[in-house]
Amino acid sequence: MSALDGLRERLRALELRTRPQDPDLVDALARRWDELPAHVKTRNQMLGRRTAGCEGTHGVFPRCDLACTPCYHSREANRVRTDGAHTAREVDAQMALLRELRGPGQNAQLIGGEVTLLDADDHAAALQAMRRHGRKPMSMSHGDFDYAYLEALALGPATGTPRFEHLSFAGHFDSMMFGRRGIKRARSEAELHPYREAFCAMFQRLEREHGVTHYLAHNMTVTPRNIAEVADVVRTCRDMGFRMLSFQPAAFVGNTARWKEQYREFTTDQLWNEIETGAGGRLHWNALQIGDPRCNRTAYGAYARGRYVPLLDEDDERDLRWVEEFVAAFGGMDFAVPPRLLAARATRALGSRPSSLPSLAGWLGRFVRRAGGVRAVLTDRPRAMTYVMHAFMDAKDVRPAWELLQRGELSDDPGIRATQERLQACSYAMAHPEDRTLVPACAQHSVLDPVENARLLEVLAAAR
Ligand code: SF4
Repeated sequence: MSALDGLRERLRALELRTRPQDPDLVDALARRWDELPAHVKTRNQMLGRRTAGCEGTHGVFPRCDLACTPCYHSREANRVRTDGAHTAREVDAQMALLRELRGPGQNAQLIGGEVTLLDADDHAAALQAMRRHGRKPMSMSHGDFDYAYLEALALGPATGTPRFEHLSFAGHFDSMMFGRRGIKRARSEAELHPYREAFCAMFQRLEREHGVTHYLAHNMTVTPRNIAEVADVVRTCRDMGFRMLSFQPAAFVGNTARWKEQYREFTTDQLWNEIETGAGGRLHWNALQIGDPRCNRTAYGAYARGRYVPLLDEDDERDLRWVEEFVAAFGGMDFAVPPRLLAARATRALGSRPSSLPSLAGWLGRFVRRAGGVRAVLTDRPRAMTYVMHAFMDAKDVRPAWELLQRGELSDDPGIRATQERLQACSYAMAHPEDRTLVPACAQHSVLDPVENARLLEVLAAAR
């Protein structure tokens, strides 16, 4: 290769690297947008514009050592042996398909039963496979594990130096879970606060001792029994170190033996009101939408001098226009990259759409004013916090809706049709490499999990 050819090649590589969006992601977003049903193609919709959707693993480690009422896992799940080699193979295949169909840079949950029942090296190998396929992994755990496990996960076994610079975990804590060490049965959500705090403290210690940074989410299932405690959970947890507080109204999915209450006694609006009470401010979830509003609400904001400040004001037309300008300029651009690369990509994004600049700059001024002014922001840096509600659907509705969709049919029944609309706009997919399909998590848990776990029970028993 001549010197000139070498230079050309390096320039081509630099051009590709500094593109605001990977070409595969651009294609994946366009496909996603085309597939979405008309009712969610709203001006604030992020699916198909900013993200291709969240992803999760399935059929990898179904077993869990705590018990929940309700539990979304099928009756067979706890009889399936946790197997590191099986997990590594499955995660690799599922993530490869997601990379192909959804492009790079998407958030993916390493989820099943309890992730920390995997050996720490197997857990690390699964996270590394997810990253290899361009995913941003988050481990979903009940949080009942020790610092030694976290340290073994974060550090390479031979060198003792970090094998990850950063870890993302979601800790699921609520009083419907039984068998946690130290508190087999919590009588209230408040009794779990020390365990939530200890969970955050482990990651803070890991950062202090080894420099491994973290992003922590808190998940909580909500039923009529604990909804009145949600505000206190939010109020207490928002300063513990979590960056996201996520709530899932219980649904009738999974093991029927673990359905104990009338979960539909409250509405999603009531739950959202409780979250807002705890957050200490209105949560502007209509500013942005990810998928169908009956499934998801997301509110981005920050705490500035102890006060909740929304990132976007859903009543301010200028903020709504800002969202449109933002996605038009940046699309699915990944902002979590080294500063110099970020600057190069942002410059190119803005250079190709200079008309966005006034609107984009105007938002910053409004946010700073909402946060108390320049001096307030500079002296006490706002702390980002995201509030989420994700309402899974009942298996009795998902089953017929999904079966009809598989045959390409839309139901005339309003309830089933509504379920189909939500499935079509689903923002949380699981990959099936065997037939190259992506399946909404609701359909996975309601329809496919029981068969899959029964098969795994046989396969992994035979492989022993
Ligand atoms: S269809 Fe189910 S899994 Fe998908 S976004 Fe809606 S509630 Fe979530």
